[in-house]
Amino acid sequence: MDTDDLSFILNHLGEDREAGFRAVVPPVVQSGNFTYPTVEALRNAMRNEFDVPLYTRGANPTVAMVRKKLAALEHAADALLFGSGSAAIAAGVLSFVKAGDHIVCVRKPYSWTTKLLNELLDRFGVSHTFVDGTDAENFRRAITPCTRLFILESPNSITFELQDLQAVSAIAREHGILTLCDNSYSSPLFQNPIDLGIDLVAHSGTKYLNGHSDVVCGVLAGSREHIRQVMAKEFMTLGAIPSPHDAWLLMRGLRTLEIRMHRSADSAEQVAKFLEAHPKVVQVNWPFLDSFPQQALARRQMKRCAGLMSIRVKAADVAGVERFCNALKRFLMAVSWGGYESLLFPTAATMDPRNPQGELPWDLVRIYVGLEEPQLLIADLEQALARV
Ligand SMILES: *Cc1c(COP(=O)(O)O)cnc(C)c1O
Repeated sequence: MDTDDLSFILNHLGEDREAGFRAVVPPVVQSGNFTYPTVEALRNAMRNEFDVPLYTRGANPTVAMVRKKLAALEHAADALLFGSGSAAIAAGVLSFVKAGDHIVCVRKPYSWTTKLLNELLDRFGVSHTFVDGTDAENFRRAITPCTRLFILESPNSITFELQDLQAVSAIAREHGILTLCDNSYSSPLFQNPIDLGIDLVAHSGTKYLNGHSDVVCGVLAGSREHIRQVMAKEFMTLGAIPSPHDAWLLMRGLRTLEIRMHRSADSAEQVAKFLEAHPKVVQVNWPFLDSFPQQALARRQMKRCAGLMSIRVKAADVAGVERFCNALKRFLMAVSWGGYESLLFPTAATMDPRNPQGELPWDLVRIYVGLEEPQLLIADLEQALARV
């Protein structure tokens, strides 16, 4: 994306200052409903519920500003805002399948995407197959006559396997199958799946887009027809919307998206290289490292690699991993990522320490590099690794 375009989108696109008292910062239109002076005007508003404010579950002026920015960032014609990333993914999936249909989904997607397929869609007669997405041909092999949708997440947010988005979307097109890609890891700044042939792009806006760890929200972007279809059906019916105030906070967060993303990517590179050279670290998963198995693909389809990585700690047992985690002072222990603050999340937290078994290794620790001074983060990791 052109830098001019980017700074215009983040700072000005969609903002109508004449309609907001010429305030520099657009006001929050914290109103559930909107009034019209005549029956005819009300009738027209009801006919155009997707475009004009009638009731905030449909259109709201503050939300509308942010929708324009997000669509432009993802090179999409339109975008919808949701009350969470999971709501955006669920609405995007539910809108395009019916009983009897089949979905092919990349293995190990975000945990609630797995639950959507295993627990919710299964009950309504929509079947699915999980595939190893590191080989695009696995998607082709899993296609049945009932396959309607491919769900992708590239990279995923714990071990960071990628899918070749161009190759997978080409296979989908050959078979008339729709594609939805969770792009939360890269944000629209570092990867634009629509340019690679993907139909629908989902984001947890909770992560980089808002960037301040104070809002949970989600985004779904795509063509006008697809977004209109989602809006007319699942968006309005399920009603998983953000409040206008949360949309306004998201717009505030977007002002600094470019600066935050580059800071996080610069620092992450330093931290990843430090960790890779450390004797107490067995493995570093970060897609732009030379040692990452899909590094070439990562560099081809992502502009830069952002602040989320995971490591395997060289510990004799879970207690060693826990000593490392408990000793870190500048990384907060928490789920989520993409905010200003550096975080850590050990898979050991999801396991019984006496019986540490699961899909993910017990010695895996996810590290999110936020906006703090990278040398201080590295020094903190150094002292904590000495405790392993
Ligand atoms: C957090 C996350 C989600 C879910 O988003 P919420 O806003 O928490 O509902 C989806 N995908 C990825 C990759 C995530 O990290």
